[in-house]
Amino acid sequence: MDEKNKKIKKPRGVARLISGKCIACGGRCEATCPKGCIKMEDNGEPIIETKDCIGCGKCVKICPSEAIEMYLTPEELELLKQWEAQKAAGGKVEEAEELTEEEAAILAKISAYKGVWVYVEHTGGQAATVSWELLGVGAELAKTLGVELCAVVIGDNVEHLCKEAFYYGASKAYLVDDPVFHNYRTESYYKSVCYLVEKYKPEILLTGATGLGRDVAGAVATRLLTGLTADCTGLAIDDKRFLLQTRPAFGGNIMATIVTERTRPQMSTVRPHVMPMPERDATLSGEIIRESSPVREEDILTKVLEVIDDRREGADAIDVAAAEVIVSGGRGMLNEENFGILQELADELGGVVGCSRAAVEAGFMPLERQVGQTGKTVRPKIYIACAISGAIQHLVGMQDSDVIIAINRDRSAAIFEVATYGIVGDVFKVVPFITSRLKELRCKKAS
Ligand SMILES: Cc1cc2nc3c(=O)[nH]c(=O)nc-3n(C[C@H](O)[C@H](O)[C@H](O)COP(=O)(O)OP(=O)(O)OC[C@H]3O[C@@H](n4cnc5c(N)ncnc54)[C@H](O)[C@@H]3O)c2cc1C
Repeated sequence: MDEKNKKIKKPRGVARLISGKCIACGGRCEATCPKGCIKMEDNGEPIIETKDCIGCGKCVKICPSEAIEMYLTPEELELLKQWEAQKAAGGKVEEAEELTEEEAAILAKISAYKGVWVYVEHTGGQAATVSWELLGVGAELAKTLGVELCAVVIGDNVEHLCKEAFYYGASKAYLVDDPVFHNYRTESYYKSVCYLVEKYKPEILLTGATGLGRDVAGAVATRLLTGLTADCTGLAIDDKRFLLQTRPAFGGNIMATIVTERTRPQMSTVRPHVMPMPERDATLSGEIIRESSPVREEDILTKVLEVIDDRREGADAIDVAAAEVIVSGGRGMLNEENFGILQELADELGGVVGCSRAAVEAGFMPLERQVGQTGKTVRPKIYIACAISGAIQHLVGMQDSDVIIAINRDRSAAIFEVATYGIVGDVFKVVPFITSRLKELRCKKAS
């Protein structure tokens, strides 16, 4: 936004005491200040901490001897000049509307929350990499806000995860380590997160949009009566310190930016591979804040009798999201057998085969291989899109790949808009040609 179009808000001013007028009424101004920035001296007169004053004017109104007035600081006077000039020039300006009781109370409540927290998800002490990705974006948010980046680690024998969180940028870790957390159960985990949030009051809490992350985040947000934006693809801070949470909406056709204005913490989930992985620096360290478990085994209704590993064997065991090279096929592959040519190319490149939703719906490929909004989000080094048109719901799942190669016979296909290299041609000719050329090069290199 250029300077001229930037909306200037009219400054409200801050409160100050008029010397000699206070009648020491008993601290009405102190009691009414929503930000707690008025303290009474021994002689019954107030000291007003202007640094935290929001200019709501409540103390001015309640003072029985008109001993408090609003005044503009030099910075605010300068802002007022700009405001008046912009208004005179017909530019955008915002009036300094008076805060209602309710608004002032909300402002006072939310300003008590500070810091960016990342929930460190793990299975049996092994961290989900999405947690480290979140520490990467969390560090940027914390830097913009000028606050601490902290990790939340809950589990049984999981102190090592605090250290790992420091290597990825956290400066503090809240640790609740107890046998009651040996297996994940919604009740024990969400109650512990709520306990920590209520005690330490973070302004932002990020969790991975995985099965476990979604489960715990949903329960925490419900209990704390705060907002939760699921599957965010972008996170940033605005000039009012609100977290801007961007995610696809209406079937992925628009991107919506959501703000949690009235409650804290602001909660978001982010899918794995949406945010880049930060550098791991094993020289970094931080402070561990240990808390004893706020839940007891006898208070938890759910008991874990047995853990059954449902990880599949064979083709379905392939994790598209973790692959460095993906050769993906769309509806234009026509049938399941034709995906064989994509498998050959993937084998040659040491990669895996992915697909579009249309290919899943046509029964060419299993759901586990689907890339996109309702499939996996991927960020490989190379993504080769074969006979995929490039619908927005597919693009949101792969557009952050390092190199995108698109093969499509329709030169106006949307996939070319995100492609690093585009090949206009018949996939059944282009793909086998590339594969045989790669084989040739490999044989030449070996001989
Ligand atoms: C709520 C919602 C969620 C969705 N989630 C996802 C998702 O997660 N992932 C996803 O992929 N989609 C998703 N979709 C569907 C998405 O909108 C598209 O319908 C889908 O991506 C299209 O798949 P496609 O590109 O394979 O097929 P098509 O759009 O039919 O494109 C086929 C392409 O193949 C090309 N082609 C055909 N034959 C050849 C050939 N011989 N050689 C070269 N090119 C050829 C054509 O030119 C065409 O561009 C979602 C939709 C909705 C509404």
